[in-house]
Amino acid sequence: MKKSSSKNIGIVGAGIGGLAVAIRLALKGHRVTVFEAGDDVGGKLSELRAQGFRFDKGPSLFTMPGLVDDLFRKAKKNPRNYFQYRRLDPVTKYFFADQTEFSVPADPVEFAKNGSQFFNVPEAEIKRVLQTASKQFLQTKEPFLEKPIKSIFSIFTLENLPLFFKLRRFKIFQTLHERNQNSFSSPKLVQIFDRLATYSGSSPFESSGILQQTAHLEYNIGAFLPEGGMYSISKALKQLALDLGVEFNFNSKVSKISVHQGKVRSLKVGFLEQPYQIIICNADNHTAYDTILQNASSHIVDDRKEEPKSSAPLVFYWGMKGNFPQLDVHNILFSADYEKEFAEIFDSSVAPSDPTIYINITSKVVHSDAPEGHENWFVMINVPPREKKDNWFEKREKLRKLIMKKIQDRLGINVLDHLVFEDFLDPYTLEKSNGAYRGSIYGNRSIGAWSMFKRQPNESPITGLYFVGGTVHPGGGIPLVLSSAKITANLILGKNS
Ligand SMILES: Cc1cc2nc3c(=O)[nH]c(=O)nc-3n(C[C@H](O)[C@H](O)[C@H](O)COP(=O)(O)OP(=O)(O)OC[C@H]3O[C@@H](n4cnc5c(N)ncnc54)[C@H](O)[C@@H]3O)c2cc1C
Repeated sequence: MKKSSSKNIGIVGAGIGGLAVAIRLALKGHRVTVFEAGDDVGGKLSELRAQGFRFDKGPSLFTMPGLVDDLFRKAKKNPRNYFQYRRLDPVTKYFFADQTEFSVPADPVEFAKNGSQFFNVPEAEIKRVLQTASKQFLQTKEPFLEKPIKSIFSIFTLENLPLFFKLRRFKIFQTLHERNQNSFSSPKLVQIFDRLATYSGSSPFESSGILQQTAHLEYNIGAFLPEGGMYSISKALKQLALDLGVEFNFNSKVSKISVHQGKVRSLKVGFLEQPYQIIICNADNHTAYDTILQNASSHIVDDRKEEPKSSAPLVFYWGMKGNFPQLDVHNILFSADYEKEFAEIFDSSVAPSDPTIYINITSKVVHSDAPEGHENWFVMINVPPREKKDNWFEKREKLRKLIMKKIQDRLGINVLDHLVFEDFLDPYTLEKSNGAYRGSIYGNRSIGAWSMFKRQPNESPITGLYFVGGTVHPGGGIPLVLSSAKITANLILGKNS
């Protein structure tokens, strides 16, 4: 790129979306400055260290690591000089309400073989779903996940015509639960594949059957864990950005994005107004509209902002004395009635009375994550986004007891006998620390066939203003956030549209 075409670009937020878009634009010779409210990079993908324990605060399931590697390769760097990861086997251990348990092996052929015996279904049933997931993911990836979508009409192109003839095969008009019920003769397999909806903070009873194809990521490509934990992804991206000349300003909360005559003009941090030709907002989209973009709202009034939000987290970070061989890295203690659990979260907006509990223990493979003879338990349930009237102190205490009781009943472990360290994340603290609107993790949740078109597009009607991250198109979770960075960078570089 010639020097004269190099632009001054300001980015609000150093989540992985902000980092990835900064890298892509710095690589093309632009001058990129990132303003982050917190004291380091990562946003939801950050870590907690205390008393010899290390916990990843947010994400724990790492799929499609190649998307992270791509950023390094684009910069002609060896990703292995920045971070290492390994493939997990088994992927996840599922504990069902009837006290049975099944570990999904990393090899999809073995999954079908072992699953056939355990769930008493033909091997072909599991194989068919995994093969279809792979095929359909590859068919839809480019138009839906790698291209900008401004509105429903932007997808109706000549190029996409063949896809529309296949729409029925993608089962977009069924719910994920209906599709899973039609695919599997075992209710336990239905529950495992229904859980895919939670990766976008959604309910399998409302989201589209097309989500079944996301099984491809976890069960065909695999689940991975970086050496040094998930946070090493944020650290590696920060180092790459620094190597490319990106400038970071921490403890620098942007209070306003100024717009003049339909064009972005500057960012306000403290008393300073900093002029930029292009501004990219990586902050939670709904919160940004309500705060830093308030003055620009007449240009971007968009009812997509009001769409129902995804689930919020309640996480306990427990330092546990002892070793617990009955648990693996990823463990799911399913609820007895999944439909009731989601109805409570999304229809009644209350915490589930019998929550599905996720326990992630990275110290099983990253031994430095806990002191000798200890484990680092990340224990999470899905809860509704925060309501104004909520008292999260009381709720948290009640749910903590409920979770501990279920762990005692299902696993025979009395948590209090082993607990040596404790911290937590709830919808209130996530909102406060990250700006996540009402503590919702992924922004708008996935409801029905057209939810893809109800997310904030990556560009805006304001010249020079763009969006990136898990609350905008194409969605939340590490792979989609990295995809959103690619779409946004390409829009700015004039490579998309
Ligand atoms: C508990 C939990 C579990 C999860 N599990 C998984 C998982 O297993 N796998 C997976 O792939 N994903 C998971 N996710 C989702 C994943 O973490 C997110 O989708 C992804 O990290 C979001 O990245 P982002 O770039 O959108 O921004 P964020 O991480 O939300 O970062 C936004 C940044 O903007 C900053 N900011 C906000 N407002 C301002 C302002 N005004 N000025 C300056 N800076 C500002 C914030 O401080 C923050 O650093 C999980 C998330 C959580 C919370």
